[in-house]
Parts: sequence; C-alpha cells; structure tokens
Amino acid sequence: MPMNPNYPERVSIAHLPSPLEALPRLSKYLGGPELWIKRDDQTGLALGGNKTRKLEFLVADALRNGHDHLVTMGAPQSNHCRQTAAAAAHFGLGCSLVLRGSEQTEMSGNLLLDRLLGAHLYWSGDETPPQFAPRVMRELEAMGRKPYLVPYGGSNVLGATSYVAAMGELMRQLSAENLNIDFIIFASSSGGTQAGLVLGAHVYDFRGKLLGISVDRPAGDLKSQAAALATATSTHLGLGLLSLHDRFEVNDDYLGDGYGILSETEREAITLVAQKEGVLLDPVYTGRAMGGLIDLIRWGAFTRGQRVLFWHTGGSPALFAYGSHLLA
Ligand SMILES: *Cc1c(COP(=O)(O)O)cnc(C)c1O
Repeated sequence: MPMNPNYPERVSIAHLPSPLEALPRLSKYLGGPELWIKRDDQTGLALGGNKTRKLEFLVADALRNGHDHLVTMGAPQSNHCRQTAAAAAHFGLGCSLVLRGSEQTEMSGNLLLDRLLGAHLYWSGDETPPQFAPRVMRELEAMGRKPYLVPYGGSNVLGATSYVAAMGELMRQLSAENLNIDFIIFASSSGGTQAGLVLGAHVYDFRGKLLGISVDRPAGDLKSQAAALATATSTHLGLGLLSLHDRFEVNDDYLGDGYGILSETEREAITLVAQKEGVLLDPVYTGRAMGGLIDLIRWGAFTRGQRVLFWHTGGSPALFAYGSHLLA
C-alpha cells in the first residue's frame, strides 16, 4: 500500500523541482559509475541550499503562530543562517543570528550576505550558540517581539519533512526520465536532510542505497540522532511509528582535521567538479562529501554500470571566505 504523508502547511520560497543533471565529463574522468547530480544549490532564496527546503515548513509554522522574528544559530560561515536571514527578509520578519566564537570583522561569504540581508548578529564567545540563544530570545520578548527559534541546521521534524517531500520530487524526476539510481550520496551534519531522505525513500519506495558523508561527527552519533528524527517525523506525518535505524548509512572517514578545515580532499573535489562540469561545490560540506565519493570510486566501491546521484546541498557562498586556502 503506498504511503500518504500528511504534510503540514508550507510557504513557497524554493525554486522546485531543483534540476537533476548528468555529470558526463566527471564520470568519464573518474572511470567509475555514471554520476548524476541533484541541484539543491539552485533552490533560490539568496543563493540557495538545502536549508531553503527546510525553511518552507519552518517559516510556515512561525507565521501560523504569529511570530514576527526568526532566531537561529550556526558557525560564522553558516549557510543555514544566511538562508534563514533571507527567508526572514522575504516575509518581512526580523532576524537575529547567534554565530559561534568571537566577532569576525572581515565580512565575506555568508557573513557578508547575513549583513546585507539585514540580520542582527550576535557572537556566542566562549559559550556555544545554543547556550547563548535563549538570552537573545528573552531580550526580544522583553522588547515586545514574538521570536521563533529555528533549531540548529533547521533539523527538527518540520525541517526533515522537507526532505521527505524532496525524495518524492526526485522519484517523479527519475520516473519521468526513466532512470534508475543505485546510490544517493550527500553531505550530512545535523542529520535533518538524511532523516528526511531515508524516510522519504521508505515512503516513495526508492530501492537504491543512501549514504551520508559525515562532515563533522562520528558516524554512530549522527546515525542514532538522524534515525530518532526520522521516527519522530514519521509520527508527525501520520505514518505511524517507523523505525528505520538499519537504513541509515554514514561514512565518517573524511572528517580530516574537523569542521570547516580544508584538506587536499576538498580542494581536489572542488576544483575537479568546477573544471570538469562548471559546477561549484563548497569548502565545508559538499567539497568534503564529493571528496569522499571520489575516494570511494577510486577504491572501487561502485561498478561501472551503476548510477550514483550526488545530492548537492549548496554552500557555495562560503567559497569566497576560503579563497587563499582553495588555491594553496
Ligand atoms: C547544512 C548543510 C548540510 C547538512 O545538512 P544537515 O541537514 O544539517 O545534515 C549539507 N550541506 C550544506 C551546504 C549545508 O549548508
């Protein structure tokens, strides 16, 4: 029996469906499986990315409940913060961002865009952004505003819901193109994207495998958190209590020296995809995930006849904050 998710309300801000494209020159160069790409870097909303899909459900929730301000948190080059700032501007809401660490004065990449989009910036200093954010919420409330806290990475049941829907979108594209995909590979961090895709694969009967390349956390951690989120999301969508723990595959071989620290893996992936296909990746997430995919291809993880889809989750504005590291 086909499953019928009961989707909550969403606003329309993403340019959907995002394009599904072949990567013939990269495939040929690597001599491995046939590579495809799902362009969630092209979801619109101030240079796009995977958070734009999540924000369609999160912003709808904020508006429905009468909120007038979005608050969220992240790293200084957070794509999530930049897309949240853009969504707030689009709907005439205020926006406050809590960024990790001490104040950075050089305005480049996402940080520049946060400012252009009119977001108010706070720096969490020695605290973590989630420790700091409640103070910002209380301050805003004391000023008579009604702030809405968007979780880290937009990863709660509403954010994950957007990737259940995204899986449905991909399945429609695959069926229109009469295409079968054996593997879907993507960057995974707070787990919302992976939770949604894995649940979506179950709902829409995608038969291939899904592999998240962890950007910043041990596989076990990410897997159990994402699996719990998928279960919570399944309940929220009226699908009953689904346990999909066994369907979560995470590879944490590419963490390198940590979050946001560029190595030869990311450098090679970024320049290769740019020069073979004219597609821009990013230094923190998709550069790492594509670097992992390239490495897996070289290890012979796939056969030539297989098709592998790289789900591009965005992030290219951060390239401009990494100039000297990229060309090193
Ligand atoms: C946030 C982000 C991710 C990770 O998505 P999660 O849902 O947090 O796992 C991947 N790629 C880019 C470019 C991102 O900004």
